[in-house]
Amino acid sequence: MSNVDKLLKYQETDEKLLRLEREASNSEERKNFVQAKNFLTKAPEKLDALDAKARELETLLSELNAKYAEIDEELSDFEHLDELVSEGADISFYKKSVSQLTEKIKSVRSEVASLTKAVKEADDEYQSMKKKTIAVQKQYAEYSEVYKKYKESKLKEMEEVKKELAVLSKGLGEEVIKKYEIKRSERIFPILCAVKDGRCSKCGNELSLAGKERINGGNVCECENCHRILYNPQ
Ligand SMILES: [Zn+2]
Repeated sequence: MSNVDKLLKYQETDEKLLRLEREASNSEERKNFVQAKNFLTKAPEKLDALDAKARELETLLSELNAKYAEIDEELSDFEHLDELVSEGADISFYKKSVSQLTEKIKSVRSEVASLTKAVKEADDEYQSMKKKTIAVQKQYAEYSEVYKKYKESKLKEMEEVKKELAVLSKGLGEEVIKKYEIKRSERIFPILCAVKDGRCSKCGNELSLAGKERINGGNVCECENCHRILYNPQ
């Protein structure tokens, strides 16, 4: 068996491993686990921010309520307007003040109403986030158990393939395997591809003269475009 044939056989077996790895990383089991984990990682920060927002709005609301009470108090000073008038005071001045204060109190009242609404919304948001966090915490325990079992079974399958690969790698030499593994880690697959009509059969790039020479001499060469290892299939 030539080196190329050996490496092709190795690659064919490795493809099984790659498939298992992809299955594992795309599995529902992993997705659920990772999603819950990410949620829980960010939850404390989110909860803190929502809580701070609600507290801040509450402070604003109490300040506004104090302002309201103050104006209300001022208005009550004019309750005995009649008496003031009978004492000879300038009625138009007081009437103007009362109407200004009434306008002010109206606007503060509407501000209080909208702020009260905002406080409630912020509080609701905080409560629902808290509820969700508790629910996800429960789910997480479940998901991680399921994922752990799934991973164990996948790892077992992977181990079987890895044993086959270890046997196959013996006939190939360390250097070749090392080069292969580097390419694999760069997510290039298949790594070993045939040359077709002087071109890389995977990406279509034409071989350089030096590349063609190597191929004609029975060697392998690297595609300058996709960096796969190319061989002559004949
Ligand atoms: Zn190529």
